[in-house]
Amino acid sequence: MPGTDSIISMQQVGKWYGQFQVLRGIDLEVARGERIVICGPSGSGKSTLIRCINRLEEHQQGRIVVEGVELTNDLRQIERIRRDVGMVFQHFNLFPHLTVLENLTLGPMWVLKQARAQAEATAMEYLARVRIPDQASKYPGQLSGGQQQRVAIARSLCMQPKIMLFDEPTSALDPEMVKEVLDVMVGLAEESGMTMLCVTHEMGFARKVADRVIFMDQGEIVEQNTPDAFFDHPQHERTRLFLSQIL
Ligand code: ADP
Ligand code: MG
Repeated sequence: MPGTDSIISMQQVGKWYGQFQVLRGIDLEVARGERIVICGPSGSGKSTLIRCINRLEEHQQGRIVVEGVELTNDLRQIERIRRDVGMVFQHFNLFPHLTVLENLTLGPMWVLKQARAQAEATAMEYLARVRIPDQASKYPGQLSGGQQQRVAIARSLCMQPKIMLFDEPTSALDPEMVKEVLDVMVGLAEESGMTMLCVTHEMGFARKVADRVIFMDQGEIVEQNTPDAFFDHPQHERTRLFLSQIL
């Protein structure tokens, strides 16, 4: 049976926005601990694909199974899956009126029912891990974009997810801040063994941490391979065209 050993299994997934088919026959098996980079032209369906994994978007065809639980309209199942899946967006989506520490403890206290002291201790651990423990009492608006994105990553980690989804986490950042965020993500990949799916065009990052690079175009997975094979020997014309535009 396909997907038995996979933490995420997508089988023939299709999705439409009105008449427009945004995902076509997506088959994807993600192994526990696997690190996947997804790339492809703007509008190719990358965000939609990863947003289907935690049901921020609903698919209309095929099956998606996460941690053995199939995504259907059953709200309890959706809630269960969302506990296991953290997500970091291009725009950090921090609460501006809460301090960094409060941003980090909100979910653990209210969703995971942790006591404040425990939530704060965990939050401080993760702030240290993303290298900004000294920013805990500041408000998001007082931080740089790179620092805010690291807070967003720490906030996700505080919920103890099994899977982390990243949707172009560095594309809204000024160039000098990209590296500090990528370094944190590399550290996370290397130290945590967490399953990671990352939409990014940062090819250095892909080469360093990805087990597999997936190229999407027009709602399809066109090609996938190990990073070295993918970048050095792309098989499809569409992939070559894309790589020639970003490299
Ligand atoms: P990518 O992340 O690869 O840039 P997206 O998944 O965001 O692509 O979008 C794929 C296509 O679906 C685009 O053509 C986009 O305009 C369209 N699309 C995305 N979200 C919506 C929506 N909520 N309603 C209608 N069309 C959408
Ligand atoms: Mg996108």
